[in-house]
Amino acid sequence: MENLIDLDKMHFIHPTSSIKQQQEEGSKIIFEKGDGIYLTDKNENVYIDAMSSLWNVNIGHGRKKLAEAAAEQMEKLAFSSAFSTFSHEPAIKLAKKIATITPTGLNAVFFTSGGSESNDSAVKLVRHYWKIQGQPNRRKIISLKRGYHGVAAASTSVTGIPEFWGMAGHLMTDFVHADTPYGKGTEKAITSLRHVIEEEGPETIAAFMAEPVQGAGGVLIPPDDYFKEVRELCNEYGILLVADEVITGFGRTGRMFGMENWGVIPDMMTFAKGVTSGYIPLGGVVVSDAIHDVLKEKSEGTLFHGFTYSGHPTAAAVALKNIEIIEQEKLVENSRKMGEQLVKGFQKMKQQLDIVGDVRTIGLLGAVELVQDPKTNKRFSSDMKVAPKVIDALHERGVICRAVTYESTDIICFAPPLIMEQSQIDTLVDKLHDAILFVQ
Ligand code: PLP
Repeated sequence: MENLIDLDKMHFIHPTSSIKQQQEEGSKIIFEKGDGIYLTDKNENVYIDAMSSLWNVNIGHGRKKLAEAAAEQMEKLAFSSAFSTFSHEPAIKLAKKIATITPTGLNAVFFTSGGSESNDSAVKLVRHYWKIQGQPNRRKIISLKRGYHGVAAASTSVTGIPEFWGMAGHLMTDFVHADTPYGKGTEKAITSLRHVIEEEGPETIAAFMAEPVQGAGGVLIPPDDYFKEVRELCNEYGILLVADEVITGFGRTGRMFGMENWGVIPDMMTFAKGVTSGYIPLGGVVVSDAIHDVLKEKSEGTLFHGFTYSGHPTAAAVALKNIEIIEQEKLVENSRKMGEQLVKGFQKMKQQLDIVGDVRTIGLLGAVELVQDPKTNKRFSSDMKVAPKVIDALHERGVICRAVTYESTDIICFAPPLIMEQSQIDTLVDKLHDAILFVQ
């Protein structure tokens, strides 16, 4: 049989990867199986999956109940359409469940297959919302610099990390990026956001879209009062607030949804990843009753927006079982508790290692920044970044996590499964400490 590494190089174009490096070096790890917080590769090496793979395997790997839920639904009805006036029980029940667990007033769900589709759908829905209300000029979407929202047509442009615009340029227009509140503070960030709104013209702005915590940007946790002020600003100018809860949803930040950390209710919420813990693709947009009412009253004819897999019955059955497990095992509470333990470990490590700068967690979403001088927060130059070396050292020590190194950043991100136990947190921190010592 041909070697897997060679076949991989020949036939598999990897997502978000350097095609050249992939060709030269081949895949470093070929995963074979998963169990709880662990992944095992083809050579029987075992790793702690400290990223829940792609911030999504919230309940951990190898859950038979999810496989059973999928099998049961597939045997009964693997797929049928939900277009037009067709429907099916799993999607109806999941929509009801999501309406129940999202904040008050968010009660209607449009399903997709993932985060990018959800954010593209949100952009189209907000523009449609304004159009049918006689304000077609409200088209602009403001989002945050260093925000990540996906790679489809609109979500690429909503994303505030310029590297993502390089591949094919902007496919849609009317996107504006405002300063992240991280490291800036609420007052400055809100003043700058107000400035952007005034400059662009409030009557041209459809929505402000942001992640409650900017994940791929480096786990940038906003100040506690930031989103409350954003909510007020949006109300003042009649701008819709869209929360991208693709990473932060389903317990990741120690609350069921990220915005709940600050008691803020958005007008729309997008979700994906943790809704099925990655066992099967699914995402969606939840809209407020006010928006739903406008759509019901003023949307004429067919809404020409729907994916073949919107509300996929098997995916919906898996999501229902996944949410049941999150609730039964109290994983939201565990995320909060274990996040507090994780940051304690990071803080202890910071006292012992000179190159550790800011450390932070919110639930089981965390980051460790690496700096040349922790007193002045001076970063390493772009050719001296440390995070990628720490990531390699962690791989050798049996931990998978992720580096963020664009612009001046040098960050290691963590998003371990919400089932983490204290002893596993301790092992993770010990291994990180050891890896940083090794490379510093
Ligand atoms: N939004 C956020 C906050 C994300 O982190 C991601 C993916 O990482 C997306 C959207 C895009 O989701 P997907 O990769 O499922 O299209």
